[in-house]
Amino acid sequence: MPRSHALDRYRNIGIMAHIDAGKTTTTERILFYTGKSYRMGEVNNGTAVMDWMEQEQERGITITSAATTCFWRDHRINIIDTPGHVDFTIEVERSLRVLDGAVAIFDSVAGVEPQTETVWRQADKYGVPRMGFINKMDRVGADFPGCVAMMRDRLGVTPLVLQLPIGSEASFVGVVDLVMMRATVWKTETLGAEFRHTDIPEDLQAAAAAARQALLDAVLDLDEAATAAYLERGEEPSPDTLRACIRKATLSGGFVPVLCGSAFRNKGIQPMLDAIVDYLPAPGDIGAIKGHRVGGVESDERAANDDSPFAGLVFKVMNDPYVGPLSFFRVYSGTVSVGDSVFNPTKGEREKIGRMLEMHANSREDITRACTGDIVAFAGLEHTGTGETLCDPQKPIVLERMDIPEPVIEIV
Ligand code: GDP
Repeated sequence: MPRSHALDRYRNIGIMAHIDAGKTTTTERILFYTGKSYRMGEVNNGTAVMDWMEQEQERGITITSAATTCFWRDHRINIIDTPGHVDFTIEVERSLRVLDGAVAIFDSVAGVEPQTETVWRQADKYGVPRMGFINKMDRVGADFPGCVAMMRDRLGVTPLVLQLPIGSEASFVGVVDLVMMRATVWKTETLGAEFRHTDIPEDLQAAAAAARQALLDAVLDLDEAATAAYLERGEEPSPDTLRACIRKATLSGGFVPVLCGSAFRNKGIQPMLDAIVDYLPAPGDIGAIKGHRVGGVESDERAANDDSPFAGLVFKVMNDPYVGPLSFFRVYSGTVSVGDSVFNPTKGEREKIGRMLEMHANSREDITRACTGDIVAFAGLEHTGTGETLCDPQKPIVLERMDIPEPVIEIV
């Protein structure tokens, strides 16, 4: 996959859930499906895909990295690990800070659980746009409308129902897509199973029409021309217009697209990936990143584009079994290349960028340059810890205010 520098083709997302709701399973499935499409583009024959599937099943796709890069529909999706445990509040907050959007996973039987509520409030604080995936639709007692109601009542959001489940529990076979007004049905429950689009089953037609109407009522007034065409001439909005309205509503906060499926039974993952691309923000949607006034560094901001002075944040330092200590880093503005000398304003030290890696599900790729929006891992930093900024030495900025030691600022 060639590196895409179009910032609107980046999605930096987190997956948040109450423990056991299916975060691990969903993440693994995302990595499987994105890995498969990535490979299919390279080797265009069925056996290569099968071989790859078998290999992956043997090794097991696991997400052990603080951030993993994958690709879907020509978009670069960086999945940032969001700690599931509320005890690690600072870590949760830090990960929320470096992601632009999130997928919240709910258990269809349990609905909104306390831990989800806690993380939800933290995400509110950072204004992170979110979508919901109601997982485990195959479980006995799965209650899709009940979960949607809980989101409204407990989380105080306006859920935008984009799908209705077809069947439930053991007979959950697919979803009605309310944007396209068609059914999506999976042929089997195996990993990588094909799906097909069909007409909406007769017994769901009335419910689908009502749910579609509710969706139009909630979002269509975000597009004046579409509203006029609809109210004056009864014209249905095109799927693209409707998607644009849903995206606007999601980015404005308060509106949460809701999808459903069963990660374990491989149903609903591809539409979830489509929704990540269609509705969650790109780095440019978030606006400029603000810096704090610390020591000799004034408060300032950096626009999210490659032409701005370089600035970014180390959000996690962890030991990689193959490479050693890695500092995971989000580039907020500008670009950085191997060989660059960058500045840590908190420590008043320069760092030389010796090695830069992009982390995939089962591989680490050496890269020479990172751009605005990228999430990369630096190997061999000497002075920089978690929560510290690295920036252009001529244009210092501090992106996270640290309570611990007094910053040493020396403009070099
Ligand atoms: P996490 O704690 O949120 O990471 O949850 P896991 O992904 O580890 O899943 C917790 C348990 O729920 C595991 O036993 C999974 O196999 C199971 N699970 C995950 N997704 C589904 C699903 O869609 N349906 C059912 N029935 N079980 C699921």
